[in-house]
Amino acid sequence: MRSTGSWYEVRRVDSGAGEEVLKARLRGKLRLGGSRSTNPVVVGDRVECSLEPSGEVWIEQVLPRTNYIIRRSSNLSRESHIIASNIDRALVVATLFSPVTAPEFIDRFLVTCEAYEIPAAILLNKMDLAGATPAGVEAVERFTQVYEGAGYRVMHASAVTGEGMDELRDYLRDRTTLISGNSGVGKSTLIKAVSPGLDIRIGEISHAHGKGMHTTTFSQMYPLSEGGYIIDTPGIKGFGLVDIGGGELYHYFPDLMRVAPNCQYYNCTHTHEPGCAVIRAVETGEIAEERYLSYLKMLEEDEKYRK
Ligand code: GDP
Ligand code: ZN
Repeated sequence: MRSTGSWYEVRRVDSGAGEEVLKARLRGKLRLGGSRSTNPVVVGDRVECSLEPSGEVWIEQVLPRTNYIIRRSSNLSRESHIIASNIDRALVVATLFSPVTAPEFIDRFLVTCEAYEIPAAILLNKMDLAGATPAGVEAVERFTQVYEGAGYRVMHASAVTGEGMDELRDYLRDRTTLISGNSGVGKSTLIKAVSPGLDIRIGEISHAHGKGMHTTTFSQMYPLSEGGYIIDTPGIKGFGLVDIGGGELYHYFPDLMRVAPNCQYYNCTHTHEPGCAVIRAVETGEIAEERYLSYLKMLEEDEKYRK
């Protein structure tokens, strides 16, 4: 559920064990696992533990992961840090008002999910604010059209009016969902509404090493009252496009990917080439301009990290 260096919080899921949360330590052999990752056991992992007569709990084995997401430890480092594993789906919470979520934030998140083959959806929160003005209603319509057009499910919610809460509850039930979104969009409020009794601060960044030092953030997993888990990954902004080369970035934009086979050149970058089907689709409106601009921006910004 959580790790803070030397301790691991594990939740018993073996039959009849109830909801017990235990503090466990790691066998040395696991620490030397030989992978390039800096952390051998991560949030979301299913682990086998032994319980010693003294009450000590040891993690003996990590069961095979169905998937995991990583972030490079730093831009210069070849080492990677696994953020979380065994994720069923991902949800990005966005708002069009107070605060405004930058489309690029959403698109980066979606690209990462595509790269890891984690199904992603978007929840547009604070509909009570957006619905209060004609301009707001229009913005919601456009937003929904852009992302549904790209192939994503868009949910509308308001923690204030209760709109969309049943849909969110259904989405989360019995799954492990990675949740993301800028600070202030209402993640904590939504989760508390879905799972009363769960007292959490989603996305709170812990400054464990004090001022001026490197900021550490820990992923954390929470059980939901109706079944399922959410995984919170503070500091997801650094969540890089680690192994995505510039030439393949468009593979992770399903809307671009759909028309790209019709480009004249097989190695088309969809930036300037003659006979580019992507550019043509943007012109006809088949691909939303917002999404295409995000693609160009990511291509440009990530260029420096790939060199
Ligand atoms: P987090 O940082 O994403 O966890 O955001 P919080 O859950 O802490 O919410 C930030 C602020 O937005 C709080 O003051 C909430 O009361 C408020 N808030 C959350 N959801 C809604 C909503 O649907 N409508 C409105 N108007 N405010 C909301
Ligand atoms: Zn093209």
